[in-house]
Amino acid sequence: MVQEKKLLSIVVPVFNEEESITETVKRLLALRDKLLPSLDVELVFIDDGSSDCSLPLLRNMAEQTTSIKVIAFSRNFGHQIAITAGIDLAKGHYVAVIDADLQDPPELIEDMYLLALTGFDVVYGKRRSRAGESVFKKLTAKIFYRLLNYLCEIDIPTDTGDFRLMSRNVVDAFKRMPERHRFVRGMIPWLGFRAIPLEYDRVERYAGETKYPLRKMLGFATNAVFSFSKKPLTIAIRLGFLTILAGILGGCYMLYLKLFTNIPVPGLTAVLLSIVIFSGVQILLIGVVGEYIARIFEEVKGRPLYFVAETINI
Ligand code: UDP
Ligand code: MG
Repeated sequence: MVQEKKLLSIVVPVFNEEESITETVKRLLALRDKLLPSLDVELVFIDDGSSDCSLPLLRNMAEQTTSIKVIAFSRNFGHQIAITAGIDLAKGHYVAVIDADLQDPPELIEDMYLLALTGFDVVYGKRRSRAGESVFKKLTAKIFYRLLNYLCEIDIPTDTGDFRLMSRNVVDAFKRMPERHRFVRGMIPWLGFRAIPLEYDRVERYAGETKYPLRKMLGFATNAVFSFSKKPLTIAIRLGFLTILAGILGGCYMLYLKLFTNIPVPGLTAVLLSIVIFSGVQILLIGVVGEYIARIFEEVKGRPLYFVAETINI
């Protein structure tokens, strides 16, 4: 009996990567050729509304080989949505996700695949080191993942990005999660399945600049917290109780001063201070609740996650 060759899909989100995309495609095609005896490979590129030459470059390269598939979004929808679109479209028995800037070596996908064959549904890249990233980025990333693990019920592996390989089971499960606020590297651990890390050294970007400026990074982090955890609400309630307790204690103390001593009860300053502090706390907590309401609002609108303007080889 001839065994059918398995298909591996490699999903690559692309946003303004004109300086690195040609090299990325070259390395991925080399990987395809290396794997070809045992595996068919399709490369699924998602152009996330690039405003540079990334899309024309991809178009050209897709003309040479049908292994290269491209979908172009109608505008920039963001990294996480781009990954989702790629996973939606990928047909492979296994699906790998990798960035377009060559920070994650494409050749490792083969190791991931071999590791998966030993009985794992998810193989995720774990960064042993990250070259060429600022101390600030490394530090904030560290704090962020520790915080996230404190806030979330599920364990999100630290030092892990979106570089991973998944089996069809995982992909099908993932496709059933329709939520709009997507934090892919948390959603996959949430699904369960047998997962194993593959340690690697993250290298510098091949070319160009990070597409995650501080503003986007903060958005990414807030999104992760509020769409993945209900704990901020629990913390809000605890803070409320603490405030009430402080109020009651303070009240008792003043009552005691008034009834049993001649010391005058502290005046306006104390009153003003407590008003300012506690209205601050209230506004903050309303903001927390507001974050959740905004998310409900976005989710109930039920808009499609993305719009495709162009497809090539699909
Ligand atoms: N990216 C994307 N849409 C965006 C921002 C980034 O598709 O809005 C892609 C980008 O082209 C790259 C990957 O997501 O392939 C990761 O981005 P980047 O390398 O800039 O992030 P960093 O590695 O600096 O965290
Ligand atoms: Mg990068």
